[in-house]
Amino acid sequence: MERIIVLNADYSILGTTTLKRAIRLLVKEKAVSVKDSAFRIHKDMLAPLVIRLIKAIRNLWRIKVPWSKSNIFVRDNFTCQYCGVKLGKRQCTVDHVIPKSRGGKNKFDNVVCSCFACNNKKGDRLPSEAGMTLKRKPLIPTIMSFLLMKIKAEGLEGILKELDIY
Ligand SMILES: [Zn+2]
Repeated sequence: MERIIVLNADYSILGTTTLKRAIRLLVKEKAVSVKDSAFRIHKDMLAPLVIRLIKAIRNLWRIKVPWSKSNIFVRDNFTCQYCGVKLGKRQCTVDHVIPKSRGGKNKFDNVVCSCFACNNKKGDRLPSEAGMTLKRKPLIPTIMSFLLMKIKAEGLEGILKELDIY
C-alpha cells in the first residue's frame, strides 16, 4: 500500500501514513503537501508524497519505540545478526540472545533478527556456547533513528534525499 511521509512542522521526520489519512490531514488543513506525486485524486489536487504538519508535535524524543517483532526487523535492517545475510520479510525470525528459558526478556537489547538456519543452530544456548557471534550489539533505538530506519525499510528515503531533508 502507498505510504506517505509525514514531517513535523520543523521538517524533521515523524513517520509515514496512508494516502487516505494524509488527504484527511490536508483537507482539514492540519498539514500541507511538501511534495506531490503525479497521481491526480481530484481535478485540482494531486496525491501527496510528503506532507508536513502545520502544528508541531513536541517532545518527540520522549516517545519510546514500541517493542515488537517487526520493529526488531526494522532496527536490524532485515539482516541476520549472526551470519549477516539480508532476509526477506517472511524469512526473518527473532532470536533471544539470552534464551527465554534462562530468563532472557522480550527487550530490544536481548532480541535480534535471525535467519531460520542460525536460529535453529543456536537453539537454547548463549551465542558463546553455540560458537556464534553477533554482528553488532543489540541496542534500544532512539525514536528519530528508528523513524529513519522505518522510512528506509519502506523504500522512501529517496524522496527525503530529493527534498534535502536528510
Ligand atoms: Zn543467519
